[in-house]
Amino acid sequence: MDSSPKPTIKKRKIFKLSDASVAGQIRDKHRANAQKISGYYANAEEDGFARYAWRVKNCSKWLEFDLLHDDEDKVQLKLRDARFCRVRHCPVCQWRRSLMWKARICKILPQIINDYPKHRWLFITLTIKNCHIKQLRLTLNQINKSFKRLTELKIWHFKGWIKSVEVTRGRDGVSAHPHLHILAMAPPSYFSHGYISQAKWVDIWQQCLKVNYQPVVHVSAIAKHQDPKIIIPEILKYQVKESDLVADAEWFLELTRQLHKSRGISAGGVLKEYMRDLEEKSEDLVNENKQTQASEEESLCFTWQARIEKYLKYI
Ligand SMILES: [Zn+2]
Repeated sequence: MDSSPKPTIKKRKIFKLSDASVAGQIRDKHRANAQKISGYYANAEEDGFARYAWRVKNCSKWLEFDLLHDDEDKVQLKLRDARFCRVRHCPVCQWRRSLMWKARICKILPQIINDYPKHRWLFITLTIKNCHIKQLRLTLNQINKSFKRLTELKIWHFKGWIKSVEVTRGRDGVSAHPHLHILAMAPPSYFSHGYISQAKWVDIWQQCLKVNYQPVVHVSAIAKHQDPKIIIPEILKYQVKESDLVADAEWFLELTRQLHKSRGISAGGVLKEYMRDLEEKSEDLVNENKQTQASEEESLCFTWQARIEKYLKYI
């Protein structure tokens, strides 16, 4: 009889990224939604979509973090490396892209405020009636042309602006609600001469749109003492929110077709120059504020477990 001790199978410990921080839970959520999107593309008939399916499926399959110790000696995870798919509507990549833009714009805002210290900031939302998702491209052309018309009017006194296009899914599941968010820089005289009331905004926007109904318009001024940075998350949030992306495969696939090669964020007036500098930088979705490539820090690598929809590390 064999009396040798049975080999013991060493049980590996499992460490969930979501247990490390709230950021870990957020990463799990975006990655799980990417998995859904990949499935939508995989089931579509178009040739190009199979390629998207593959790319999104392989997006950020692993994440490597630096282990940083803060002042209170608490350990923090900072993303060091990952491979992102860069598909436009990938929930992970659009989240990373939005973080990248926020970081870039927050970096240049102090310079703009320094160059134009007396200017005030307005946050304007311009809408149009919902359209069928299959009419989205046409409707976006209309809304963008109307905005151009608006900027060419005499009453448009703004020195510069950033415009972002947002699309939400209609409650009926087949329509889309495209609208524009504008961060506009008003000269100091705007509130004394040239102020546009809410009612007047609606009239002007109706004329620019050339429609026979009164469109919804929201305008709010950022208080003098407030940093315009507070509005950046609003202006640079996702073009399509994640819950709308994953709600329905048909709507999502049509959205991909309709938004193909369209532009989400653009700038005008003096802000165009500031933005041009930013656009020329390459898209670094890992870490916009990264100083160096190499790191001496200790690192941890987590891998995506599709079945349980979590990033795990086996120790
Ligand atoms: Zn991706």
